[in-house]
Amino acid sequence: MVLSTERELQTAVAAARAAGRPVALVPTMGALHAGHLSLIQAAVAKAHENRPFVVVSVFVNPTQFAPGEDFQSYPRDPAGDHAAASAAGADVVFQPTVTEIYPLDRKLPTFPLPAVATRWEGELRPGHFAGVCQVVARLFQMSDADRAYFGEKDYQQLQVVRAMVRDSLHDAVRVIGCPTVREPDGLALSSRNRYLSADERRRATAISAALQWACGRVDADVCDAAILQSGVRTQLESAGMTVDYAAVVEAGTLEPLGRIGDVPARLLVAARLGTTRLIDNCALVAPTVRSQQDTAQ
Ligand code: AMP
Repeated sequence: MVLSTERELQTAVAAARAAGRPVALVPTMGALHAGHLSLIQAAVAKAHENRPFVVVSVFVNPTQFAPGEDFQSYPRDPAGDHAAASAAGADVVFQPTVTEIYPLDRKLPTFPLPAVATRWEGELRPGHFAGVCQVVARLFQMSDADRAYFGEKDYQQLQVVRAMVRDSLHDAVRVIGCPTVREPDGLALSSRNRYLSADERRRATAISAALQWACGRVDADVCDAAILQSGVRTQLESAGMTVDYAAVVEAGTLEPLGRIGDVPARLLVAARLGTTRLIDNCALVAPTVRSQQDTAQ
């Protein structure tokens, strides 16, 4: 079922709730690929309770694009998205207009931007996370979701949404992070991959290869962040990329870490290949922590 207005969505959600179904939201900008579909499948698969009512929103949110970014040219395929989301188990595909999300006759609540939004993408894409928080809060409100699914592919976005929900929305929504889905050669799926030329597409595999290299170094007890960062940077530059950042960070706050140790760590990467900007990330687990985890299992 495709819906496009707040009223239609609220009626459908009320009917689902009356039938005892919890509401799960999967926010997307469309051009759905297997990464998006994995979120929908995760939202559907809840065997221990009444089948969730799964709402997939498809909305290219203008407020999260900085001037000069690809808002106008961002891939759009509403019919294909409807078919793919329904096949993956979505009950509703919500495809609103801009004025439905941002009505001109109503003042929507605003929230302070969490500190975790400051660095990395926040620094390089001014206004981006303010736009993300704005649209996500509005979608939460419109769908009355109990839980919402986000990809670890956009790791900082996931942490920003978690922080907003914790600090400003009184934990009203459970935020669930889902693993990154990759092409067989390692490239993280992204709607923007279609911008890559054949040659760039081949070279783009350097990102996941560099992340794997870093994980391998950490397994070999190379835990110095500077060594890992400069190794990743060199590999990406050798593949012809311009590196925006390659950063070893604390996994919750995204503050830089000097060493991989006991606290959960993440390696965040953003690089440009021609006119396409790619981001990716992975967990870094120190051998001592990994062996404790293995023992605990
Ligand atoms: P987007 O349409 O790019 O805004 O993405 C919508 C949601 O899908 C976000 O929560 C993304 O993190 C998630 N997502 C995008 N690509 C992937 C992927 N390759 N694997 C898992 N989730 C993804």
